[in-house]
Amino acid sequence: GHPVFADLPETVFESMSRLARQHGAINLGQGFPDGQGPDDVRAAAARALESVSNQYPPMMGLPSLRGAIAAHYRHHQGLDLDPEREVMVTSGATEALAGALMALVRPGDEVVLFEPMYDAYLPLVRRTGGVPRFVTLKPPHFRIEEAALAAVFSERTRLVLLNNPLNPSATVFGPDDLALLAEFCRRFDAVAVCDEVWEHVIFDGRRHLPLMALPGMRERTVKISSAGKIFSLTGWKVGFVMASEPLMRVLSRAHQFLTFTTPPNLQEAVAYGLAKQDGYFEGMRSELARSRDRLAAGLSRIGFTVLPSAGTYFLTVDVAALAEDDVAFCERIVTAHGVAAIPVSAFYAEGGVRHLARFCFAKTDATLDAAVERLGGLF
Ligand code: PMP
Ligand code: GLN
Repeated sequence: GHPVFADLPETVFESMSRLARQHGAINLGQGFPDGQGPDDVRAAAARALESVSNQYPPMMGLPSLRGAIAAHYRHHQGLDLDPEREVMVTSGATEALAGALMALVRPGDEVVLFEPMYDAYLPLVRRTGGVPRFVTLKPPHFRIEEAALAAVFSERTRLVLLNNPLNPSATVFGPDDLALLAEFCRRFDAVAVCDEVWEHVIFDGRRHLPLMALPGMRERTVKISSAGKIFSLTGWKVGFVMASEPLMRVLSRAHQFLTFTTPPNLQEAVAYGLAKQDGYFEGMRSELARSRDRLAAGLSRIGFTVLPSAGTYFLTVDVAALAEDDVAFCERIVTAHGVAAIPVSAFYAEGGVRHLARFCFAKTDATLDAAVERLGGLF
């Protein structure tokens, strides 16, 4: 038979969504909105399917999209990116992450990971031969501390992989956390790969600070984002990578052997969408913040301890009072109550945090209310 390697486990999103289907559950596990995304962006994709060539687009991405990406980040984050040399289009942030590791990690290189971490990170690091070094972030604040960085950084550190805003804890790292990390990257000459797919999904007046903008980080940061999160169209898998030219040269070599390109009509539509007025982005944020508040209020009302959510589609609840761990809790609510959530321990390798469950609130009011209603019997 074919071997199944322990370092390539089934993703928790797949196993939870399967359980949700089997039990007819409301799926607040895997993070995807139940809306359709902006009508005009979908219409732009449909138009481009008829009017733009459907053959291989340029390996680095359509010039129109790369220009739109540079303009977008200049406007929203004050970044100065050369669209020809410092911007690349990938098939989702997932490809960008795999490519960055494939391009930059040599077997034996140490890679600093912050847990909780998005579930793709560790298998990708291991498969590229990297040696993971974990910084464990703990609830309820998930802050980065100097002593924790000092314990893992060394001359062997090749790369740091940070997710900001952080899925699943819904933490937004601000200037202090990022300045601390930047200082270690400079001191140990490490490259930072910063997964910023949730950069537009931050609440309560917060502003996203790209790691690349910190002193000394412009030349050593790979910034990754995705249209899936920016436009609530998670199935599109149009990702972006931004990096200085020497880094981009090697990143593009990995991309050419992974996917080479991304569907041109979707690229054209994303170029259109990135130029949307500020009102679109503010509207998306305030609508999601309203959904967050609705689910948080509902879960609190029935007895849950809800942790703060500063960004992403997610909030977490503390299930320590229920005398079972997060995995048992999530299995129980999907089978007995018909609501799927994600156990946060799936995002930890070492940390021993087993009392949090993640719920996705990017859903209609009716869906959120129905989920709370079903969970009402728990307490
Ligand atoms: N990174 C993080 C932190 C994510 O949350 C996700 C998707 N939820 C991705 C990467 C994957 O993005 P994409 O669908 O564009 O591959
Ligand atoms: N990123 C999504 C989440 O955190 C899931 C993506 C996936 O299913 N791989 O829920």
